[in-house]
Formats: sequence, structure tokens, C-alpha cells
Amino acid sequence: MLRIRRIYDDIVPVNREILRQVKAILQSRFSEVPAEEIDLIGEKLRNPFKQRFRSILFVAENLRRRVLGFAMLLHEPQIGFCFLDWIASVKGKAGGGIGGALYDRLRREAVALEAKGLFFECLPDDFEACPDEALLKENRARLRFYERYGARPIINTRYESAVKPEDRCMPHLVYDGLDLIKAPTCSFARKVVRALLERKYADYCSPAYVTKVIHSFRDDPVQLRPLRYVKPEAVRATVTSQSDEQIVVVINDRHDIHHVHERGYVESPVRIRSITAALMPHGLFVEVKPRKFPDKHLYTVHDADFVNYLRRACREVDEKKSLYPYIFPIRNKTRPPHEPSVLAGYYCIDTFTPINRNAYPAARRGVDCALTAARELLEGRRITYALVRPPGHHAERRSFGGFCYFNNNAIAAQYLTAYGRVAVLDIDYHHGNGQQDIFYRRSDVLTVSIHGHPDFAYPYFSGFKEECGEGEGEGFNLNLPLAEAVDGAAYRRALEKALRRIADFKADFLVVALGLDPAKGDPTGTWSLNAKDFEANGRLIGGLGLPVLVVQEGGYRTRSLGTNALHFFKGLSFAAQRWAESRKVAHERLQGIQLRYEMQPEVPGRIRHLVEITGFFSEEEIDMAEELAQERLARAAASGYEFVMAEQYGRLVGYACYGPIPCTAGSYDLYWIAVHPDVQGKGLGQRLLQETERLIRDAGGSRIYVDTSQRLQYASTRAFYENAGYRLDAVLKEFYAPGDNKVIYCKSL
Ligand SMILES: [Zn+2]
Repeated sequence: MLRIRRIYDDIVPVNREILRQVKAILQSRFSEVPAEEIDLIGEKLRNPFKQRFRSILFVAENLRRRVLGFAMLLHEPQIGFCFLDWIASVKGKAGGGIGGALYDRLRREAVALEAKGLFFECLPDDFEACPDEALLKENRARLRFYERYGARPIINTRYESAVKPEDRCMPHLVYDGLDLIKAPTCSFARKVVRALLERKYADYCSPAYVTKVIHSFRDDPVQLRPLRYVKPEAVRATVTSQSDEQIVVVINDRHDIHHVHERGYVESPVRIRSITAALMPHGLFVEVKPRKFPDKHLYTVHDADFVNYLRRACREVDEKKSLYPYIFPIRNKTRPPHEPSVLAGYYCIDTFTPINRNAYPAARRGVDCALTAARELLEGRRITYALVRPPGHHAERRSFGGFCYFNNNAIAAQYLTAYGRVAVLDIDYHHGNGQQDIFYRRSDVLTVSIHGHPDFAYPYFSGFKEECGEGEGEGFNLNLPLAEAVDGAAYRRALEKALRRIADFKADFLVVALGLDPAKGDPTGTWSLNAKDFEANGRLIGGLGLPVLVVQEGGYRTRSLGTNALHFFKGLSFAAQRWAESRKVAHERLQGIQLRYEMQPEVPGRIRHLVEITGFFSEEEIDMAEELAQERLARAAASGYEFVMAEQYGRLVGYACYGPIPCTAGSYDLYWIAVHPDVQGKGLGQRLLQETERLIRDAGGSRIYVDTSQRLQYASTRAFYENAGYRLDAVLKEFYAPGDNKVIYCKSL
């Protein structure tokens, strides 16, 4: 069986392994691709706008996770097109339908991205252009394949003209109109070609070549080659459906053994049944059976004596009998009582959560479900759902209560911390005291809870906004207690606040403790959220773009549980898709930045540290950065070096260094701009550049020059200057090293 899957990042281990296989296929199939570029794939996925194309990777894998093929799609959101960078299958697998499945998938993706066309290059299928018989045969097969989708080479342009005299067999630029068979307009095609040649082939094409090719696009619309291999009626241009990814659901298959028959015990088996009845017929979900995980995971968040007590007490209590705590020995914690019923109060926070024969095995299985769902995230799923009961978010490190025994979400969060930073967002009506207690002194797990104020809502003793973490964990717990009457709009305002905190935390994974008890009519709550509100909440959360593990907590109005859960997931999945499609570098405003201009004795060392930490410069360059600052310190303006330094809360986070070029009338060199990795992508580089330009203008300067390398690694540097209005003035071939050209940008002020 073949599965096409999108790979979002190289953070989770399974994706790292997938990427390793992709790179191996690339190396074996495209021997001319430089190793440097192959190594960049992971970085491109994590930091998709680095080269002003968003890279989207799809793999075709079998059930044993062997990659049989892959495709890399580049998306250009401003101009609005996609470019198929690579599509390949493992050797010996060509023609097994892998290429077709991948191509279908990325056409759907391109449509979902609202791209106005899918472009790619194909080697020529004419004997004059490609005299190699074997290659010619291959090229013909390829173009025949694409013709079935209506995709054909653009003709009557000089796109195929040689860059270097020795170039042979230059590729066609092929256009797939996706839903439309119509050819693109001339101006659109020119923009596309400029973007491709200037960004993707910057190393290869001279500015003169680029201009020549662009100006050769004169037909409007551009001409597509007539179909050569396929009859017009055989072309299937329409794209069937948009991209969607299923949500994995792990259901506690032993939940119903835990059935407390006492009146008013609303935490009952029908809860799960009403949710599954609404979810499972929907194609959005796929069920995965829970796997067994060892007890050690319990001990990572719960005290061993508490776990052992629960296990033993449940085993020892009479069948069909429930033991309720009624004495709470809060004073002398070091001396646990012996009488079992009294001991229950030693570990429990309330009088309505019983010890009984089946509580332990049901809760233990719930833990397996939460861990299975977490595991699925590590295997590359984007949204997983542990549909469990009993719930868990009231279970603390050493106590149970509120219908909860083990803290499922905290155990799963702890499990994920081995792979990245985790935020737990509790959206149950009741405060998530359990995970708050468990992670209270830690900064690697952020806990956030939106709930009814403890003045009137369970658990009454925690959930106040002053509780914000302790020690290392200070600032890593956020409580948002709300009033007794809350509607959807008021709830969303709190949720947005919670999500901003989570975004600031830069989580790698999000665990959502999903309570459906904020719903209108819930017997344990006072709020009035309806299905549309749950959908809106899901959308807001999905907008974070994180891999999400949802763990079921409370929610007791069985009539609306299913529809509210379904709406929540619809919103979550929709927003997660949109996010993946429109991902942009966030331009958050930087707070607390101050610019300084005076060189102080401690600054050269701080500049050295800053330049080093960017990881972008060589040892010699780092030395040079410090030397320039020393020079300025020693000789002031006579050094010819001017500095602009940006500090944030006293820390040097960026700087620019520039100076007049001797013997010129008003020309300046910009020697250096560096920004601390913590604040990159937030516009500080731009601000430093603008400030530098202002200072130069004020000093009577009229032109600024910047040197950089033409190597691929510097594509983002070049893009930075291009976006700021700098234009390419000269290319000095092989300046830095063989194959490493120097490019000079200039801006007139
Ligand atoms: Zn609740």
C-alpha cells in the first residue's frame, strides 16, 4: 500500500529518517545536485521562507515507512504560482504509479494554495535538442505523462537558450494550468520566469541572461505547444479535491468497565459513545488502536506511592463497591493513615471520585491511549485525539479527584518533552490543576488554563491568575479564570490571549486538554458555548500551526457532546490546513529595542559573541567583526567605521557597521549587519538597515554598496537586500573561491 504524506519539518524522529531517505534518493537520481543544496532540505522545511519560496515536501511511502518516491513543490505566494522542483522515485520503482500519485497530490495542493499555475522544467523531446537516444526516450515519456494533465511546454521564447556556450539539452519550461487549460498571460509568465531565474538559478544565470529571457516572452497569452502525444479528449485537467489530512482517534476500549452507578455521577460511558457516534462516520477521522506502554510513564509525572496506592486500593476494594474518601488528613502529611477508606482521603482532593475495582484498569488504559496518540504525532501526524475516560486533568502529582485518576495529558506532554517544547492548553470548564501542579516548577512545559473562576467553580482551591509558576517555572503557568456567565465571544478573547502566550513560548507541540463542559446546558458548568463556538475555538487553536494532541477531559451534556466535538475538530483541521497553506514568517513587533551609536570598551567582545552565535560567519569573519569594533574604539571617526547597535533589555541583539569609501564623492560601504538568532525574522535587520541609510543620508552620502556571496547559502541575505530596494550592480566571478562569486548590490539614496 502506498501512502502520500506531507512532511512538515525535521523535528520528529520519524521525519528525520524520512528526510534521510529522500536525500538518498536525490543523490542517486540527480547526481548533479550539489551536496550543499541537498543538506538544506531540512532547513527549508523548518524555515520555509528562507529563499522566498515555501518548500513543500511530499513523500510516497509504504506501510513500513520506506520512502518510494518524493516530490518537492515550491510555492511563491506573492506572484501566486507553484514550481515543481523535484519529483523522483527510488531506482527500479519508476512506472509503479508512484509518480502519478505524487503528481496528483501536488496538483491538489497547488489548487488549495490558489496557485495560478504549476510550472516545472522538462528536458527536450526533440532529436535536435537532445541527440542522446536513451535520454530522448525518457524525456518523451515524461512529457507524454504530463500531457495527460494538459501540461505542455511554453514555446516561442528563449527560455531554452544556453547560458554557457557549452550548454546542451536545455529544459523546456512546462506549464500546468491545473483547473484551467488556458495559457498564462505574458506579464504573469514574465514574473514567474524572473522569480525562477533570479532566485532559484541565481548562481547560474547572469543578469543579462535573465533580461534576455524575460524579454523573449512576447506572446500574450504565451503559447503552449500543441498536444503531441495525447488526444485532447484524453486530457484530464480538473483537480478532484483539495488536500486534507485525517485526524487520528485513539479510543479507550476499556473505558466502559469503569461505570459508577451512583446517582449524579455524570462521568459515564455514554459520553464516549455519543462522541464516537458523531465523529467516526465522518471521513475526517481514522481510528488507531491503543498500544501498551510501560508503567514508567506514570512515574514520570506521578509519585510512585500514589500510583501504587491506586493500583492496590482498586484491586482490594470489594467488587461492585465504591470507596469514597471522607477524611482528609491534610495536617500530618508525613504519616499516612492505615485504614484504607481514610487513606483514600490522603490521596484524593474531593468526596465524589471513588476507588473501585475497575477505576485503575480503565484509567491505566486511558494513559496508553494518550501515549499512543502522542506517539502518532511523533510519527508525522498533525492532529491526534485521545478519546478517553476517565478524564485526567484534575489528577496532580500525588492526588486524584474530579473523576480523574491519572493525568493523561500531563503524561503525554512529558513524553513529548523528549522531542521539543510542549505547551498544554486546558480548555475544560474546570481549572487544570493537575498539570499545573505537575509542571509548576518547569520552564520546558508551558501550562495554560481557561476556566470558571475558582470562587465559584471546582476545584475551588486553584486556578487563580496569581498562580504563575515557581522557581525555574516562574512565568510558565498562565491561568485565565473567567466569570460565571461567558458566551462564545468572551471566551474567544481569553483564548486569543492564551494562544499569544503559547506562540511566544515557541512550542514544538501543543497538547489540548479538551473539555466540552463550557457548552450551553452542561450540568457541571455555567457557560453558553454552542457548536459554532467550538468550531471557532478549534480554528483559533489550529491557527498556531503546531502538531496538536487533543486529550478528552470533561463535558457531560450527552446530547450535545458529539456535535460540539465534531465542530471543534472541523475548525481545528480547517485552520491547520490553512496554516500549512499560507504559512508566513511572523513579523512580530520587537519590544524594548534601543539603538546606540557610541562604541564602548565592552562592545567589541559583545559583537564577537553576537556574530559567533548567528552561526553564519567563518572564524576569520568573526575576528574581523571584532577588529572593526576595536578599530572604532581606538580611533573613533578616523577609523572610517561607524556603528549602529541594537540592545534589547540591555543585551546586544544586533548591529550594523558601515563607513565612507575613501576617494569617492558620497559612496558608502555597508560592512556588516548581524542579528541575534533569538530575534531574527522580526524586522530588526530591516530597522538597522533603515537607520544606517538615514545616517548615511544625513552625512551627505548618496550611494550604499553591499558585497555578498552568490552561493545558495546566501540566498536569504540577497533577498533581504533586494527587498530593501538594493539592486544587483556587479558579479565578480570566482571572487571568494572557485565557484563562489561575489555580488555587489547598490542603493541610491
Ligand atoms: Zn470539567
